[in-house]
Amino acid sequence: MSDDRLVTPEFSQDDSAAEHALRPKTLDDFIGQHRVRDQIDVLLSAARSRGSAADHILLSGPPGLGKTTLALILASEMQTPIRITSGPAITHAGDLAAILSSLVEGEILFLDEIHRLPRPAEELLYLAMEDFRVDVVVGKGPGATAIPLQLPRFTLVGATTRAGLLPSPLRDRFGFTAHLDFYESSELAEVIRRSAALLQLTIEEEAVLEVAGRSRGTPRIANRLLRRVRDYAQVRSSGGASAKAANALTHSDAMAALEMYEVDEKGLDRLDRSVLTALIERFNGGPVGLSTLAIAVGEETETVEAVAEPFLVRNGFMARTPRGRIATELGWRHLGRTPPAGVATLFDTPAPNA
Ligand code: ADP
Repeated sequence: MSDDRLVTPEFSQDDSAAEHALRPKTLDDFIGQHRVRDQIDVLLSAARSRGSAADHILLSGPPGLGKTTLALILASEMQTPIRITSGPAITHAGDLAAILSSLVEGEILFLDEIHRLPRPAEELLYLAMEDFRVDVVVGKGPGATAIPLQLPRFTLVGATTRAGLLPSPLRDRFGFTAHLDFYESSELAEVIRRSAALLQLTIEEEAVLEVAGRSRGTPRIANRLLRRVRDYAQVRSSGGASAKAANALTHSDAMAALEMYEVDEKGLDRLDRSVLTALIERFNGGPVGLSTLAIAVGEETETVEAVAEPFLVRNGFMARTPRGRIATELGWRHLGRTPPAGVATLFDTPAPNA
């Protein structure tokens, strides 16, 4: 169920062509994240005036917020080629050594999901980042020798959704770390207006705000919801007498499409709502253990924990307590229910990892 969710922040196959067309190409086009943008701007100007590769950069933050986009912008602003790979794609240290030794001077190596790099590759990266060198091991066992190989100066751009999982020796080798935060609704509205223009759509301002408010702080979701509203308007426009221009998206198109795809006004989808509903209706708001909750929803424990719960907790609809999951006052009210007395005081217990 999680793979085909409309509101998943993870990249899905359906996004690939569309995202390519909608990606901002310059730092000026990149919406929001002002602090990170300013910092990168300074970093780039300094590197340009020195005429050398920029420092290694670590981009951290949840999926869909623009890490890949920023890496591509860095390459285009520096007018350097970029090589894209990811932690899980590198299964042996040798894979990484091969990539590193084929880089050209000044090239950017974008390493997505760097926290999933295998340990031996990570160790090889330390030397590469610091001394622009790899030691190629020839032979096996006691007779093995390490032949040092000089690398061109390159810029590593690492991206991670889990900065906390990076070992500190790796983290410390980045000259600059940027953390991307969820976007404000007004910034998502700007993303939607920009994307609509690129897709040659006109969109009513109310529709923009409607989609922005349901996009869970994530540009990737905003763009995806916009495409679904466009699909809806296209189908609606072929409907005979009441037909309107297919490329004109109205507020009622947005409302109808989002209702059809079951994304509610706060961005909760069917899975999120069924978790919250089970918590409230079956367990009277908890506390209840995660696996019991998952069984009640008919989902895998991992799905509830990794897919629905982070969003529900982050937005204050439910909370984790040492005794189990509980629905918050906001959670009760979101489902149109009155919370029982004392719900607010349940928060006095500190929540682990919440
Ligand atoms: P990540 O690498 O963090 O998962 P991406 O860089 O692939 O996210 O961004 C997903 C999509 O969201 C991009 O294709 C782009 O269209 C859009 N996007 C992300 N950040 C921005 C932004 N700041 N301004 C406009 N569009 C953005």
